[in-house]
Amino acid sequence: MRIGNITSKPGQVVRGALTVGPVHIPVMVMQGNLPGPSLYLQGLQHPTEVMGVEVIRTVADRLDPAELRGTLVMVPIANPLAAAWRNGLSVFDDLVPSRRRKALEKVNMNRVWPGRPDGNLIEQMAHAIWERICRQVDAIVDFHCCRVCDHYFAAALDGHEESAALGKAFGAPLVDLETERSYARGLLFLRAPALLDTPSILIEMSPGRDITYDMLANGVRGVYNLLKHMKMLPGRPARPARQVVVRRSDPVRVFRARREGYLTTYRQVGEVADKGEVLCEIRSLDRFRVLQTVRAPFDGTCPSIGPGSELRLVKPGEEICTFKRVAR
Ligand SMILES: [Zn+2]
Repeated sequence: MRIGNITSKPGQVVRGALTVGPVHIPVMVMQGNLPGPSLYLQGLQHPTEVMGVEVIRTVADRLDPAELRGTLVMVPIANPLAAAWRNGLSVFDDLVPSRRRKALEKVNMNRVWPGRPDGNLIEQMAHAIWERICRQVDAIVDFHCCRVCDHYFAAALDGHEESAALGKAFGAPLVDLETERSYARGLLFLRAPALLDTPSILIEMSPGRDITYDMLANGVRGVYNLLKHMKMLPGRPARPARQVVVRRSDPVRVFRARREGYLTTYRQVGEVADKGEVLCEIRSLDRFRVLQTVRAPFDGTCPSIGPGSELRLVKPGEEICTFKRVAR
């Protein structure tokens, strides 16, 4: 496989970069000894979402190209500009004039796919990844981090069966089927199946800003699951004990804190609950009395549950749980 100036070699990992103006986007290509399909792993479109970087780094470290069929293409840091600027690194300071930097800092890379060759620098970076990688791979995984209450889920384009199958195979407890009207335009995991018919998923993990080893293990297991699903490794994906599918377009009940206090949750994201079961409670800080009880309004599941912030001490108005029916 050729990506820009990188040419993969059987049984090897070749490292290089896609160069877009002053930006070098790091690329690793691991080609197995045997022919097979290709999978693209991408991390860090958003500057604080480091879990995907660590998942990709760990997979690249652990996986032996001798046991792989096909090719794994990895971009652990898709947006080095945002990564550097948001975290106070100086690597691009002399390369991008500060007046251009202000405008570029406002651009959300995951709203501009498939990018534009004559657009701003972020759009050009997306365009380079789209043209040189997305167009020639058989499947795409884009790693993100979310709110603590979203925990860990896969998202795929509703109606694109191969994307949904990829989302299920990854093994997260919840698969969310979304459309391009769900909440924003220009997301890679929605544009690639729509425009290229390439199965694609977005993986949300929490927390952002740091790694936890249980979530890292989930992410690495998920990638191995996909490699098995795509027959790039022998064996079958390890399915979770439970997994539910929900549709973003289905009605959702949103529960908010009516009182301030300590939030206790009794269900996890993707766990089912029968009508009337207690999902979470708010307790007072002084005597730990129950101030608010949230019960399942019908049989269904929690797409999110827990505090919107990282604290379990919640304030009135704060979203504490969402609930919807499981999709068929
Ligand atoms: Zn993100």
